[in-house]
Amino acid sequence: MPTQKRTPTIPPMDRPSGWRPAEEIVPIDDETPINGQYDWLVVGAGITGLSAAHRLGELVPQDRVLLVDARPVGWGASGRNSGFLLDLPHKFDLDHPDAARLHKIMDLNRGAIATLREQTERLGIACDWSPVGKLQGAVRERGTGMMRKFCEALDKIGERYEVLDRQSCADIMGTDYYAGAVFTPGAVLVDPFLLVRGLARRLPENVTLRDDAAVTEYAEKSGGFAARLRFADGDTTDVTANKVILATDPYTPEFGYMKNRILPTITYASITRALTSAERKRYTGKMNWGLTPADAGGTTLRMTADGRLLIRNHYGFAPNYKATTRDLGKVAEAHREGLDKRFPALRNVPITSTWGGVVSLSRNHATFFGEMAPGVYSANCYNGVGMTRGASSGRLLVDLALGKVSQALDDIISVSGQPSTIPPDPFRSLGVSGRMKLVEWESRSEI
Ligand SMILES: Cc1cc2nc3c(=O)[nH]c(=O)nc-3n(C[C@H](O)[C@H](O)[C@H](O)COP(=O)(O)OP(=O)(O)OC[C@H]3O[C@@H](n4cnc5c(N)ncnc54)[C@H](O)[C@@H]3O)c2cc1C
Repeated sequence: MPTQKRTPTIPPMDRPSGWRPAEEIVPIDDETPINGQYDWLVVGAGITGLSAAHRLGELVPQDRVLLVDARPVGWGASGRNSGFLLDLPHKFDLDHPDAARLHKIMDLNRGAIATLREQTERLGIACDWSPVGKLQGAVRERGTGMMRKFCEALDKIGERYEVLDRQSCADIMGTDYYAGAVFTPGAVLVDPFLLVRGLARRLPENVTLRDDAAVTEYAEKSGGFAARLRFADGDTTDVTANKVILATDPYTPEFGYMKNRILPTITYASITRALTSAERKRYTGKMNWGLTPADAGGTTLRMTADGRLLIRNHYGFAPNYKATTRDLGKVAEAHREGLDKRFPALRNVPITSTWGGVVSLSRNHATFFGEMAPGVYSANCYNGVGMTRGASSGRLLVDLALGKVSQALDDIISVSGQPSTIPPDPFRSLGVSGRMKLVEWESRSEI
Protein backbone atom coordinates (compact mmCIF):
# COMPACT_ATOMS: atom_id res chain seq x y z
CA MET A 1 0.00 0.00 0.00
CA PRO A 2 1.16 3.60 -0.52
CA THR A 3 2.58 5.72 2.30
CA GLN A 4 0.55 7.42 5.07
CA LYS A 5 -1.61 4.36 5.32
CA ARG A 6 -4.59 4.50 7.67
CA THR A 7 -6.27 1.45 9.17
CA PRO A 8 -9.85 2.45 9.97
CA THR A 9 -11.74 0.59 12.68
CA ILE A 10 -14.52 -1.57 11.25
CA PRO A 11 -17.90 -0.33 12.55
CA PRO A 12 -18.79 -2.73 15.36
CA MET A 13 -21.39 -5.45 15.13
CA ASP A 14 -23.88 -4.14 17.66
CA ARG A 15 -27.54 -4.81 18.33
CA PRO A 16 -29.57 -3.97 15.20
CA SER A 17 -32.55 -1.66 15.29
CA GLY A 18 -36.09 -2.92 15.72
CA TRP A 19 -37.60 -1.21 12.67
CA ARG A 20 -37.55 -4.57 10.88
CA PRO A 21 -36.84 -8.15 11.98
CA ALA A 22 -33.08 -8.83 12.32
CA GLU A 23 -33.22 -11.46 9.54
CA GLU A 24 -34.12 -8.68 7.04
CA ILE A 25 -30.98 -6.69 7.90
CA VAL A 26 -28.66 -8.59 5.57
CA PRO A 27 -26.42 -7.39 2.73
CA ILE A 28 -28.17 -6.31 -0.46
CA ASP A 29 -25.10 -7.28 -2.50
CA ASP A 30 -22.29 -9.47 -1.21
CA GLU A 31 -21.46 -11.05 -4.58
CA THR A 32 -20.75 -8.57 -7.37
CA PRO A 33 -17.03 -8.80 -8.20
CA ILE A 34 -14.91 -5.78 -7.33
CA ASN A 35 -11.96 -5.10 -9.55
CA GLY A 36 -9.09 -2.68 -9.52
CA GLN A 37 -9.70 0.84 -10.68
CA TYR A 38 -12.73 3.10 -10.08
CA ASP A 39 -13.39 6.74 -10.84
CA TRP A 40 -15.10 7.20 -7.48
CA LEU A 41 -15.01 5.37 -4.17
CA VAL A 42 -17.92 6.22 -1.85
CA VAL A 43 -17.42 4.84 1.66
CA GLY A 44 -20.60 4.55 3.74
CA ALA A 45 -24.05 3.61 2.39
CA GLY A 46 -26.12 5.72 4.78
CA ILE A 47 -28.26 8.61 3.56
CA THR A 48 -25.16 10.69 2.66
CA GLY A 49 -23.39 7.99 0.65
CA LEU A 50 -26.57 6.79 -1.08
CA SER A 51 -27.49 10.36 -2.06
CA ALA A 52 -23.99 10.88 -3.45
CA ALA A 53 -24.20 7.63 -5.43
CA HIS A 54 -27.56 8.60 -6.99
CA ARG A 55 -26.16 12.02 -7.93
CA LEU A 56 -23.10 10.40 -9.56
CA GLY A 57 -25.50 8.35 -11.65
CA GLU A 58 -27.27 11.52 -12.79
CA LEU A 59 -24.20 13.65 -13.53
CA VAL A 60 -21.47 11.24 -14.64
CA PRO A 61 -23.23 8.05 -15.79
CA GLN A 62 -20.09 7.00 -17.69
CA ASP A 63 -17.93 6.96 -14.53
CA ARG A 64 -17.30 3.76 -12.53
CA VAL A 65 -18.50 4.21 -8.96
CA LEU A 66 -17.89 1.81 -6.06
CA LEU A 67 -20.10 2.24 -2.99
CA VAL A 68 -19.06 0.17 0.02
CA ASP A 69 -20.28 -0.29 3.55
CA ALA A 70 -18.93 -2.58 6.24
CA ARG A 71 -22.47 -3.38 7.38
CA PRO A 72 -25.69 -4.15 5.51
CA VAL A 73 -27.52 -1.05 4.25
CA GLY A 74 -29.93 0.01 6.99
CA TRP A 75 -27.75 -1.27 9.82
CA GLY A 76 -26.17 2.15 10.53
CA ALA A 77 -27.64 5.39 11.87
CA SER A 78 -29.48 6.16 8.61
CA GLY A 79 -31.57 3.01 8.92
CA ARG A 80 -32.03 3.02 12.70
CA ASN A 81 -33.10 6.58 13.46
CA SER A 82 -36.50 7.96 14.43
CA GLY A 83 -37.48 8.66 10.82
CA PHE A 84 -38.12 12.44 10.90
CA LEU A 85 -37.22 14.25 7.66
CA LEU A 86 -37.02 17.74 9.11
CA ASP A 87 -37.57 20.87 7.05
CA LEU A 88 -36.89 23.50 9.72
CA PRO A 89 -33.47 24.36 11.14
CA HIS A 90 -32.95 22.40 14.32
CA LYS A 91 -32.24 23.62 17.85
CA PHE A 92 -28.77 25.18 17.74
CA ASP A 93 -29.19 26.44 14.19
CA LEU A 94 -32.46 28.08 15.14
CA ASP A 95 -30.70 30.14 17.83
CA HIS A 96 -28.60 31.83 15.14
CA PRO A 97 -29.48 35.54 14.83
CA ASP A 98 -29.11 35.70 11.01
CA ALA A 99 -32.55 35.01 9.43
CA ALA A 100 -30.99 34.69 5.96
CA ARG A 101 -28.88 31.78 7.22
CA LEU A 102 -31.99 30.03 8.58
CA HIS A 103 -33.74 30.45 5.21
CA LYS A 104 -30.78 28.82 3.45
CA ILE A 105 -30.96 25.82 5.80
CA MET A 106 -34.72 25.52 5.20
CA ASP A 107 -34.23 25.72 1.43
CA LEU A 108 -31.64 22.93 1.63
CA ASN A 109 -33.83 20.75 3.87
CA ARG A 110 -36.92 21.29 1.72
CA GLY A 111 -34.90 20.61 -1.42
CA ALA A 112 -33.76 17.32 0.16
CA ILE A 113 -37.34 16.34 1.03
CA ALA A 114 -38.49 17.16 -2.51
CA THR A 115 -35.66 15.08 -4.00
CA LEU A 116 -36.33 12.13 -1.69
CA ARG A 117 -40.05 12.30 -2.49
CA GLU A 118 -39.30 12.34 -6.22
CA GLN A 119 -36.92 9.38 -5.79
CA THR A 120 -39.36 7.33 -3.71
CA GLU A 121 -42.13 7.92 -6.28
CA ARG A 122 -39.99 7.36 -9.41
CA LEU A 123 -38.16 4.34 -8.01
CA GLY A 124 -41.21 2.82 -6.30
CA ILE A 125 -39.71 2.88 -2.79
CA ALA A 126 -42.38 2.01 -0.19
CA CYS A 127 -41.22 3.53 3.10
CA ASP A 128 -44.43 4.78 4.76
CA TRP A 129 -43.78 8.27 3.33
CA SER A 130 -46.03 10.46 5.53
CA PRO A 131 -46.13 14.23 4.95
CA VAL A 132 -47.91 14.79 8.27
CA GLY A 133 -45.69 17.49 9.83
CA LYS A 134 -44.53 17.18 13.41
CA LEU A 135 -45.17 18.32 16.96
CA GLN A 136 -42.50 19.95 19.12
CA GLY A 137 -43.66 19.09 22.64
CA ALA A 138 -43.15 20.34 26.19
CA VAL A 139 -43.86 18.48 29.41
CA ARG A 140 -43.25 21.11 32.13
CA GLU A 141 -42.19 24.78 32.49
CA ARG A 142 -38.68 24.17 31.16
CA GLY A 143 -40.17 22.78 27.95
CA THR A 144 -42.91 25.39 27.59
CA GLY A 145 -40.26 28.12 27.96
CA MET A 146 -38.34 26.51 25.10
CA MET A 147 -41.56 26.17 23.11
CA ARG A 148 -42.08 29.94 23.38
CA LYS A 149 -38.52 30.54 22.16
CA PHE A 150 -39.20 28.17 19.27
CA CYS A 151 -42.31 30.19 18.31
CA GLU A 152 -40.32 33.45 18.49
CA ALA A 153 -37.71 31.95 16.15
CA LEU A 154 -40.45 30.82 13.75
CA ASP A 155 -42.01 34.31 13.83
CA LYS A 156 -38.62 35.80 12.97
CA ILE A 157 -38.39 33.70 9.81
CA GLY A 158 -42.10 33.95 8.95
CA GLU A 159 -42.87 30.23 9.32
CA ARG A 160 -46.37 28.90 9.86
CA TYR A 161 -47.17 27.03 13.09
CA GLU A 162 -50.01 26.16 15.42
CA VAL A 163 -49.78 26.09 19.22
CA LEU A 164 -51.65 23.18 20.81
CA ASP A 165 -52.77 23.03 24.45
CA ARG A 166 -52.78 19.90 26.62
CA GLN A 167 -56.19 18.72 25.41
CA SER A 168 -55.36 19.21 21.71
CA CYS A 169 -52.13 17.27 22.24
CA ALA A 170 -54.10 14.51 23.94
CA ASP A 171 -56.57 14.38 21.04
CA ILE A 172 -53.70 13.62 18.66
CA MET A 173 -51.39 11.53 20.83
CA GLY A 174 -53.78 9.80 23.17
CA THR A 175 -51.86 11.06 26.22
CA ASP A 176 -52.28 14.12 28.43
CA TYR A 177 -48.61 13.95 29.43
CA TYR A 178 -47.71 17.01 27.34
CA ALA A 179 -48.48 20.54 28.55
CA GLY A 180 -48.43 21.76 24.97
CA ALA A 181 -46.82 21.46 21.57
CA VAL A 182 -46.08 23.47 18.45
CA PHE A 183 -47.27 21.89 15.22
CA THR A 184 -45.32 22.67 12.04
CA PRO A 185 -46.53 21.17 8.77
CA GLY A 186 -43.35 20.63 6.72
CA ALA A 187 -41.71 17.53 8.24
CA VAL A 188 -42.18 14.08 6.69
CA LEU A 189 -42.17 10.84 8.68
CA VAL A 190 -40.75 7.67 7.16
CA ASP A 191 -39.59 4.19 8.01
CA PRO A 192 -35.88 5.02 7.71
CA PHE A 193 -34.82 1.41 7.15
CA LEU A 194 -37.14 1.00 4.17
CA LEU A 195 -36.07 4.37 2.77
CA VAL A 196 -32.33 3.59 2.69
CA ARG A 197 -32.85 -0.02 1.58
CA GLY A 198 -35.01 1.26 -1.28
CA LEU A 199 -32.41 3.83 -2.34
CA ALA A 200 -29.75 1.10 -2.26
CA ARG A 201 -31.79 -1.38 -4.28
CA ARG A 202 -32.44 1.19 -7.02
CA LEU A 203 -28.93 2.55 -7.56
CA PRO A 204 -27.94 3.88 -10.99
CA GLU A 205 -26.30 1.40 -13.36
CA ASN A 206 -22.80 2.85 -13.04
CA VAL A 207 -22.75 2.26 -9.25
CA THR A 208 -21.54 -1.04 -7.79
CA LEU A 209 -22.65 -1.64 -4.21
CA ARG A 210 -21.00 -4.04 -1.78
CA ASP A 211 -22.50 -3.75 1.68
CA ASP A 212 -20.34 -6.48 3.15
CA ALA A 213 -17.05 -4.63 2.50
CA ALA A 214 -15.11 -2.71 5.15
CA VAL A 215 -12.28 -0.36 4.23
CA THR A 216 -9.50 -1.66 6.46
CA GLU A 217 -6.59 0.20 4.85
CA TYR A 218 -6.69 3.57 3.14
CA ALA A 219 -4.05 5.90 1.72
CA GLU A 220 -3.75 8.91 -0.52
CA LYS A 221 -1.39 8.26 -3.42
CA SER A 222 -0.25 10.47 -6.25
CA GLY A 223 -3.28 11.27 -8.38
CA GLY A 224 -5.71 9.14 -6.39
CA PHE A 225 -6.41 6.80 -3.52
CA ALA A 226 -5.82 3.20 -2.58
CA ALA A 227 -8.02 1.13 -0.29
CA ARG A 228 -8.01 -2.43 0.93
CA LEU A 229 -11.46 -3.93 1.40
CA ARG A 230 -12.22 -6.80 3.74
CA PHE A 231 -15.41 -8.69 2.98
CA ALA A 232 -17.60 -10.29 5.62
CA ASP A 233 -16.28 -13.75 4.62
CA GLY A 234 -12.70 -12.65 5.39
CA ASP A 235 -11.48 -12.25 1.78
CA THR A 236 -9.70 -9.03 0.86
CA THR A 237 -9.12 -7.04 -2.31
CA ASP A 238 -7.33 -3.80 -3.21
CA VAL A 239 -8.94 -0.99 -5.20
CA THR A 240 -7.88 2.44 -6.40
CA ALA A 241 -10.03 5.48 -7.09
CA ASN A 242 -9.51 8.93 -8.53
CA LYS A 243 -11.83 10.58 -6.02
CA VAL A 244 -13.20 9.57 -2.64
CA ILE A 245 -16.40 10.55 -0.84
CA LEU A 246 -16.21 9.67 2.83
CA ALA A 247 -19.85 9.35 3.88
CA THR A 248 -18.72 7.86 7.16
CA ASP A 249 -20.03 10.53 9.60
CA PRO A 250 -18.67 9.63 13.09
CA TYR A 251 -16.02 7.27 11.64
CA THR A 252 -14.36 9.92 9.44
CA PRO A 253 -11.42 10.49 11.85
CA GLU A 254 -10.53 6.81 11.39
CA PHE A 255 -9.47 7.77 7.85
CA GLY A 256 -7.10 10.46 9.13
CA TYR A 257 -9.33 13.54 8.70
CA MET A 258 -11.20 15.73 11.19
CA LYS A 259 -9.07 14.35 14.01
CA ASN A 260 -10.18 15.69 17.42
CA ARG A 261 -13.10 17.56 15.87
CA ILE A 262 -15.88 14.96 15.98
CA LEU A 263 -17.64 13.66 19.09
CA PRO A 264 -19.06 10.19 18.40
CA THR A 265 -22.28 10.26 20.40
CA ILE A 266 -24.81 7.53 21.01
CA THR A 267 -28.54 7.96 21.43
CA TYR A 268 -31.08 5.20 22.07
CA ALA A 269 -34.47 4.15 20.74
CA SER A 270 -37.04 1.45 21.48
CA ILE A 271 -40.03 0.28 19.47
CA THR A 272 -43.09 -1.77 20.42
CA ARG A 273 -44.90 -4.32 18.35
CA ALA A 274 -48.00 -3.06 16.51
CA LEU A 275 -51.00 -2.44 18.76
CA THR A 276 -53.60 -5.20 18.64
CA SER A 277 -57.20 -4.31 17.79
CA ALA A 278 -58.08 -4.50 21.53
CA GLU A 279 -55.23 -2.09 22.35
CA ARG A 280 -56.30 0.23 19.54
CA LYS A 281 -59.72 0.45 21.17
CA ARG A 282 -58.07 1.53 24.46
CA TYR A 283 -55.83 4.03 22.65
CA THR A 284 -57.62 7.38 22.24
CA GLY A 285 -55.17 9.14 19.90
CA LYS A 286 -54.62 9.16 16.14
CA MET A 287 -52.26 7.01 14.10
CA ASN A 288 -49.11 8.24 12.37
CA TRP A 289 -47.78 11.28 14.23
CA GLY A 290 -44.35 12.29 15.51
CA LEU A 291 -43.15 14.52 18.33
CA THR A 292 -39.68 15.90 18.91
CA PRO A 293 -38.82 17.52 22.26
CA ALA A 294 -38.80 21.30 22.73
CA ASP A 295 -35.82 20.67 25.01
CA ALA A 296 -33.00 19.02 23.02
CA GLY A 297 -32.34 16.73 26.00
CA GLY A 298 -35.95 15.45 26.04
CA THR A 299 -37.78 12.58 24.36
CA THR A 300 -38.75 11.88 20.75
CA LEU A 301 -41.99 9.94 20.36
CA ARG A 302 -43.79 8.42 17.38
CA MET A 303 -46.89 6.44 16.64
CA THR A 304 -46.05 4.80 13.32
CA ALA A 305 -48.44 4.30 10.44
CA ASP A 306 -48.66 0.59 11.34
CA GLY A 307 -49.44 1.24 15.02
CA ARG A 308 -46.06 0.89 16.76
CA LEU A 309 -44.81 3.28 19.44
CA LEU A 310 -41.23 4.51 19.16
CA ILE A 311 -39.40 6.34 21.93
CA ARG A 312 -35.91 7.92 21.74
CA ASN A 313 -33.85 9.70 24.36
CA HIS A 314 -30.56 9.67 26.35
CA TYR A 315 -27.16 10.57 24.96
CA GLY A 316 -23.73 9.19 25.77
CA PHE A 317 -20.18 9.62 24.56
CA ALA A 318 -19.30 6.60 22.37
CA PRO A 319 -15.57 6.51 21.54
CA ASN A 320 -15.99 2.79 20.61
CA TYR A 321 -19.03 3.52 18.44
CA LYS A 322 -21.36 1.15 20.29
CA ALA A 323 -23.64 0.73 23.27
CA THR A 324 -22.68 -1.54 26.13
CA THR A 325 -25.09 -4.31 27.14
CA ARG A 326 -25.38 -2.61 30.55
CA ASP A 327 -26.37 0.73 29.00
CA LEU A 328 -28.89 -0.97 26.70
CA GLY A 329 -30.43 -2.68 29.72
CA LYS A 330 -30.71 0.58 31.66
CA VAL A 331 -32.18 2.41 28.68
CA ALA A 332 -34.69 -0.38 28.00
CA GLU A 333 -36.02 0.03 31.56
CA ALA A 334 -36.16 3.82 31.19
CA HIS A 335 -38.02 3.50 27.86
CA ARG A 336 -40.52 1.07 29.39
CA GLU A 337 -41.17 3.58 32.16
CA GLY A 338 -41.31 6.45 29.65
CA LEU A 339 -44.01 4.72 27.57
CA ASP A 340 -46.00 3.52 30.59
CA LYS A 341 -46.24 6.95 32.16
CA ARG A 342 -47.39 8.44 28.86
CA PHE A 343 -49.78 5.62 27.93
CA PRO A 344 -51.01 3.91 31.12
CA ALA A 345 -53.80 2.22 29.14
CA LEU A 346 -51.15 0.52 26.97
CA ARG A 347 -48.96 -0.54 29.88
CA ASN A 348 -48.36 -4.08 28.64
CA VAL A 349 -47.55 -3.44 25.00
CA PRO A 350 -44.23 -5.25 24.58
CA ILE A 351 -41.13 -3.38 23.45
CA THR A 352 -39.67 -5.63 20.77
CA SER A 353 -36.25 -3.95 20.57
CA THR A 354 -34.02 -1.33 22.21
CA TRP A 355 -30.94 -0.15 20.33
CA GLY A 356 -28.29 2.56 20.25
CA GLY A 357 -27.02 4.46 17.24
CA VAL A 358 -23.94 6.61 16.79
CA VAL A 359 -24.02 10.11 15.34
CA SER A 360 -21.41 12.85 15.22
CA LEU A 361 -21.63 16.09 17.16
CA SER A 362 -19.28 19.03 17.04
CA ARG A 363 -18.30 21.06 20.06
CA ASN A 364 -19.30 24.37 18.45
CA HIS A 365 -22.39 22.87 16.70
CA ALA A 366 -20.81 23.51 13.26
CA THR A 367 -21.62 21.06 10.46
CA PHE A 368 -18.75 20.33 8.07
CA PHE A 369 -19.19 20.14 4.30
CA GLY A 370 -16.39 20.18 1.77
CA GLU A 371 -13.08 18.92 0.39
CA MET A 372 -10.90 17.68 3.27
CA ALA A 373 -7.83 17.04 1.11
CA PRO A 374 -7.44 17.24 -2.68
CA GLY A 375 -9.97 14.75 -4.10
CA VAL A 376 -11.47 13.73 -0.72
CA TYR A 377 -14.96 15.01 0.08
CA SER A 378 -17.01 14.64 3.24
CA ALA A 379 -19.87 16.03 5.33
CA ASN A 380 -20.01 15.46 9.08
CA CYS A 381 -21.43 16.60 12.36
CA TYR A 382 -25.11 16.82 11.53
CA ASN A 383 -25.54 17.09 15.31
CA GLY A 384 -28.11 14.32 15.57
CA VAL A 385 -30.41 15.39 12.72
CA GLY A 386 -28.75 14.31 9.51
CA MET A 387 -31.46 12.80 7.34
CA THR A 388 -32.28 15.88 5.26
CA ARG A 389 -28.87 17.54 5.67
CA GLY A 390 -27.20 14.23 4.79
CA ALA A 391 -29.36 13.85 1.67
CA SER A 392 -28.51 17.35 0.43
CA SER A 393 -24.84 17.03 1.47
CA GLY A 394 -24.34 13.77 -0.43
CA ARG A 395 -25.66 15.26 -3.68
CA LEU A 396 -23.87 18.57 -3.29
CA LEU A 397 -20.50 16.95 -2.47
CA VAL A 398 -20.69 15.45 -5.96
CA ASP A 399 -21.53 18.87 -7.44
CA LEU A 400 -18.58 20.39 -5.55
CA ALA A 401 -16.23 17.69 -6.81
CA LEU A 402 -17.41 18.20 -10.40
CA GLY A 403 -17.30 22.02 -10.22
CA LYS A 404 -21.05 22.29 -10.84
CA VAL A 405 -22.24 25.72 -9.69
CA SER A 406 -25.66 26.19 -8.02
CA GLN A 407 -27.47 28.28 -5.43
CA ALA A 408 -27.84 25.18 -3.24
CA LEU A 409 -24.07 24.60 -3.31
CA ASP A 410 -23.40 28.23 -2.37
CA ASP A 411 -25.96 27.91 0.43
CA ILE A 412 -24.57 24.73 1.93
CA ILE A 413 -21.05 26.14 1.89
CA SER A 414 -22.19 29.32 3.61
CA VAL A 415 -24.14 27.54 6.40
CA SER A 416 -21.41 24.97 7.08
CA GLY A 417 -18.31 25.53 9.18
CA GLN A 418 -15.30 23.99 10.82
CA PRO A 419 -16.02 21.91 13.94
CA SER A 420 -13.80 23.23 16.72
CA THR A 421 -11.07 21.07 18.24
CA ILE A 422 -11.73 18.90 21.24
CA PRO A 423 -9.06 18.47 23.94
CA PRO A 424 -7.41 15.02 23.87
CA ASP A 425 -8.18 12.24 26.36
CA PRO A 426 -8.54 12.01 29.30
CA PHE A 427 -10.02 15.56 29.17
CA ARG A 428 -12.23 14.62 26.20
CA SER A 429 -13.85 11.59 27.84
CA LEU A 430 -14.24 13.22 31.24
CA GLY A 431 -15.41 16.58 29.89
CA VAL A 432 -17.85 15.19 27.32
CA SER A 433 -19.36 12.54 29.60
CA GLY A 434 -19.71 15.12 32.40
CA ARG A 435 -21.35 17.64 30.07
CA MET A 436 -23.81 15.04 28.72
CA LYS A 437 -24.76 13.96 32.24
CA LEU A 438 -25.35 17.60 33.20
CA VAL A 439 -27.56 18.21 30.14
CA GLU A 440 -29.56 15.06 30.97
CA TRP A 441 -29.98 16.16 34.59
CA GLU A 442 -31.11 19.65 33.51
CA SER A 443 -33.60 18.13 31.06
CA ARG A 444 -34.93 15.46 33.45
CA SER A 445 -38.42 17.00 33.65
CA GLU A 446 -38.75 16.76 29.83
CA ILE A 447 -37.57 13.14 29.50
C1 LIG B 1 -31.64 6.62 17.44
C2 LIG B 1 -31.40 7.74 16.43
C3 LIG B 1 -32.45 8.58 16.07
C4 LIG B 1 -32.24 9.61 15.14
N1 LIG B 1 -33.32 10.29 14.65
C5 LIG B 1 -33.16 11.14 13.60
C6 LIG B 1 -34.30 11.71 12.97
O1 LIG B 1 -35.45 11.42 13.30
N2 LIG B 1 -34.09 12.60 11.96
C7 LIG B 1 -32.81 12.93 11.54
O2 LIG B 1 -32.66 13.79 10.65
N3 LIG B 1 -31.73 12.34 12.08
C8 LIG B 1 -31.87 11.43 13.08
N4 LIG B 1 -30.77 10.80 13.60
C9 LIG B 1 -29.44 11.11 13.03
C10 LIG B 1 -29.26 10.50 11.64
O3 LIG B 1 -29.58 9.13 11.67
C11 LIG B 1 -27.81 10.70 11.16
O4 LIG B 1 -27.47 12.07 11.28
C12 LIG B 1 -27.66 10.29 9.70
O5 LIG B 1 -28.18 8.99 9.51
C13 LIG B 1 -26.20 10.33 9.25
O6 LIG B 1 -26.15 9.77 7.95
P1 LIG B 1 -24.79 9.39 7.24
O7 LIG B 1 -25.13 8.70 5.99
O8 LIG B 1 -23.92 10.60 7.13
O9 LIG B 1 -24.03 8.42 8.26
P2 LIG B 1 -24.39 6.92 8.70
O10 LIG B 1 -25.78 6.59 8.46
O11 LIG B 1 -23.82 6.79 10.09
O12 LIG B 1 -23.53 6.07 7.69
C14 LIG B 1 -22.13 5.94 7.80
C15 LIG B 1 -21.78 4.56 7.27
O13 LIG B 1 -20.36 4.46 7.13
C16 LIG B 1 -20.04 3.10 7.28
N5 LIG B 1 -18.61 2.97 7.56
C17 LIG B 1 -17.89 3.60 8.52
N6 LIG B 1 -16.61 3.18 8.49
C18 LIG B 1 -16.50 2.31 7.47
C19 LIG B 1 -15.44 1.52 6.96
N7 LIG B 1 -14.21 1.55 7.49
N8 LIG B 1 -15.67 0.71 5.89
C20 LIG B 1 -16.92 0.66 5.33
N9 LIG B 1 -17.98 1.35 5.81
C21 LIG B 1 -17.77 2.17 6.86
C22 LIG B 1 -20.91 2.67 8.46
O14 LIG B 1 -21.09 1.27 8.51
C23 LIG B 1 -22.20 3.43 8.21
O15 LIG B 1 -23.19 2.64 7.59
C24 LIG B 1 -30.93 9.81 14.58
C25 LIG B 1 -29.89 8.97 14.95
C26 LIG B 1 -30.11 7.94 15.86
C27 LIG B 1 -28.96 7.04 16.22
